[in-house]
Amino acid sequence: MRSFNFSYFCAMNFTPLTQWIDSYDRPLVIAGPCSAETRSQVLTTARGLAALPRVKVFRAGVWKPRTRPGSFEGTGTEGLKWMQEAKQQTGLLTTVEVATPKHVQEALKYDTDILWIGARTVVNPFSMQELGESLRGVNVPVMIKNPVNPDLKLWMGAIERVYKSGITSIAAIHRGFYHSEKGAYRNVPQWEIPIELMRLMPGLPIICDPSHIAGKREMLLAVAQQSMDLEMDGLMIETHCNPEKALTDAEQQINPAQLQALLDALILRSPRGNREFERNLQVLRSEIDGLDYELIQLLAKRMEIVAEMGRYKYDHHITILQLDRWKSLFADRIKKGEKAGLNVDFLGALLKLVHEQSIEIQTNVMNKTHD
Ligand code: PEP
Ligand code: MN
Repeated sequence: MRSFNFSYFCAMNFTPLTQWIDSYDRPLVIAGPCSAETRSQVLTTARGLAALPRVKVFRAGVWKPRTRPGSFEGTGTEGLKWMQEAKQQTGLLTTVEVATPKHVQEALKYDTDILWIGARTVVNPFSMQELGESLRGVNVPVMIKNPVNPDLKLWMGAIERVYKSGITSIAAIHRGFYHSEKGAYRNVPQWEIPIELMRLMPGLPIICDPSHIAGKREMLLAVAQQSMDLEMDGLMIETHCNPEKALTDAEQQINPAQLQALLDALILRSPRGNREFERNLQVLRSEIDGLDYELIQLLAKRMEIVAEMGRYKYDHHITILQLDRWKSLFADRIKKGEKAGLNVDFLGALLKLVHEQSIEIQTNVMNKTHD
């Protein structure tokens, strides 16, 4: 099996957003309705958005992936014509969702500037392969949403397939992940996944889609703010001239005036501070570095003693796991940790990890001694 090649991904050379969009200040704002419904809805929304200087790209779905047949499935080519008209009237760039090579062909025919691939398509490597092949030799930026399920490798594989078609103007869109337990979010953000993507594919622009994460208007700002604090590059926010009457995703859409208010309320913190700030931060960071070093030394020492215990248990024909000892140790550490102000779930997970490793070390010691 081919192993996960970290250096291969790191070497991918993505075109920065600044090179595919003429002039914009971070965040790049992409806005527009979930679906293109009628000509007047598309044009009214586009005009409303063009009045907001921060909005650079106009989005709309013309082929809608719906859970059940019979719901509104988009306006297809007709919708593309309205998008083209909106582009001509407002000067905004346009983007639509494509799911098949035929969609790609149609979207390009109507001058779509940027394509995006939706969460339900990204889950399917066959579809991604076909889309990748249909994009060969085509010069168009492509945004790739995360797959519905929290599978980073699947997301990266989809990006890789588009990249291999020769396209380097690629952005990832973080739209949250399906979760069976109904919580506050429509799709749980699991921020650690896009953060890991940033580490593994440096230089890949990441756009947050707070609309599909939040699922409701009231939570959009908090999600958008969080994405900005994680240094994401852009926002895709569903905006409709009459959100309450939207045919799809009505609860999460806002109107252009509400989008303006949201953008005004966003606090854009910079990744770097002034010299004094950087110096003070450095002091705190060195303290953390020192503590991490101590933690590592302590863990190594703990594991050495564990190995010694393994040998001692072997010599005396004693089992590795003594459940009572593990139970009382766990309870004791949790109590102490709680007193020290640690989150018990975090400490519990950490203790289990340490215990697992201890069992593994003792097992190895016993097997070796046995050989
Ligand atoms: C959308 O952007 O309207 C859409 C269908 O999103 P997703 O693929 O994230 O569900
Ligand atoms: Mn939508």
